[in-house]
Amino acid sequence: MSSPLWFDPSLCLIGGNWVPPTSEQTLPLINPSDGSEICQIARGGAHDVDAAVKAAQTAIDGDWGRKTALERGRILMRVGRMVLERVEDLATLEAMDVGKPLTQARADAVALARYCEFYGGAADKVMGETIPYLDGYTVYTLREPHGVTGHIVPWNYPMQIIGRSVGAALAMGNACVLKPAEEACLTALAFAHLAQEAGLPAGALNVVPGLGAEAGAALAGHPGVHHVSFTGSVATGALVQQAAGQNVVPVTLELGGKSPQLVFDDADLDAALPFLVNAGIQNAGQTCSASSRILVQRGVYDQVKHRMAAAYADLTVGPAQDDLRVGPLISARQKDIVSDFLARGADLTVAGQGQIVDGAPSKGAYVVPTLFADVPPDHSLAKDEIFGPVQVLIPFDSEEDAVKIANGTDYGLVASIWTRDGARQMRLAKQLRSGQVFINNYGAGGGVELPFGGVGKSGHGREKGFEALYGFSQLKTVAAYHG
Ligand code: NAD
Repeated sequence: MSSPLWFDPSLCLIGGNWVPPTSEQTLPLINPSDGSEICQIARGGAHDVDAAVKAAQTAIDGDWGRKTALERGRILMRVGRMVLERVEDLATLEAMDVGKPLTQARADAVALARYCEFYGGAADKVMGETIPYLDGYTVYTLREPHGVTGHIVPWNYPMQIIGRSVGAALAMGNACVLKPAEEACLTALAFAHLAQEAGLPAGALNVVPGLGAEAGAALAGHPGVHHVSFTGSVATGALVQQAAGQNVVPVTLELGGKSPQLVFDDADLDAALPFLVNAGIQNAGQTCSASSRILVQRGVYDQVKHRMAAAYADLTVGPAQDDLRVGPLISARQKDIVSDFLARGADLTVAGQGQIVDGAPSKGAYVVPTLFADVPPDHSLAKDEIFGPVQVLIPFDSEEDAVKIANGTDYGLVASIWTRDGARQMRLAKQLRSGQVFINNYGAGGGVELPFGGVGKSGHGREKGFEALYGFSQLKTVAAYHG
């Protein structure tokens, strides 16, 4: 098979030029489906980040900073069209790099295009307001870009996360420095090539691949960065916030969760079942908004358990290119993390399991999707983010119990309520401690238009939807006295 790489993956994009990292060092990029090396990527570091931040500032002071909102929007729309034309190429790269089954990788590429379209269309629709004030004054507000924005992106949904953060930041006129994850950065590089071809001016988007502790830390703490957007683990998010805090700049943190679905006795189970399972195993469970806790009222508990167990028995796991329901995890390291959680569940009842297909490469990062039943709400598997295809079933008696259990973790990203009772839907939507609440559906990863972000250790700030445009800009108040 000829290589699906149409660009040199060992370079950084700085100020419109593809250049090797100053260290001249590279890192291996591993295909998690079989453990083979795909290519070498740049090991960018502090020098490269510094050059990228300066290039971004130059873009703001120059061509990019002079573009009108309409012009920025048109460029983003063009990028979106080019992404749509290359969906298959991008999906092939993502499948190889992340281990994502092709259908899911394709959906991510389409979502990336959609973010470009959404934010391209929105760029010239962000307005200030006039404020009634003292006699003789006219007061109004302006929405202005922060300046240079840093984007530290994880490996689980590179295209979607780049779309939602870089797309919104560019729409508002910021210039971006993007640090993709060292485990998966091919679509970040591909996206940057497409953006260049679409006419994005030099320096508006810079990409510095590299290790988190090197390029990532340098970007989070760079004094020339005016806003940092981070998606990843709680521990790293706290470090990023600390580093940005030294420069007193705002940070958006999206740190995952332990998102529950609450199934009541009166729920439409036929409608709920596909969501209950899919929200847990999509992208092999490596989804910040994965639903890893299924809380079920006792009257339907056994029925839900048996039906979910049957769905698990049908889950097959294999290489990304086989396009099964579940692919490998991102890495051998992630497999170790998830295997450790599975071992912690040795005292629990396994209600259902999927299977790894015969012939799956022995060096692939595969784990068996597992559904645990009757899990105490204070068990580690019911409280900690696993980031693998593992779900727990927790029975409850009353609505009050359900809310207490649902709100009983450190996280609060997404929750869903399955019930036909309209009053209960409204009550619980308010009571659940969560950035998003779905009623009779579940939107893991979906919804370009829907503001998204967490409470508690799920993070703070909102991305996606129109709300992101406010996050990636700052408000200026102008008070004019004219007598
Ligand atoms: P991580 O948070 O360490 O990595 C995410 C990004 O941060 C990567 O680009 C990485 O290079 C960068 N990074 C790492 N250290 C940094 C530092 N000191 N300063 C700045 N940037 C830094 O996550 P991980 O180690 O890849 O995964 C571990 C766990 O994190 C997973 O098991 C999962 O629970 C969680 N996770 C959550 C998400 C999410 O979408 N919320 C995504 C990936 C991982």
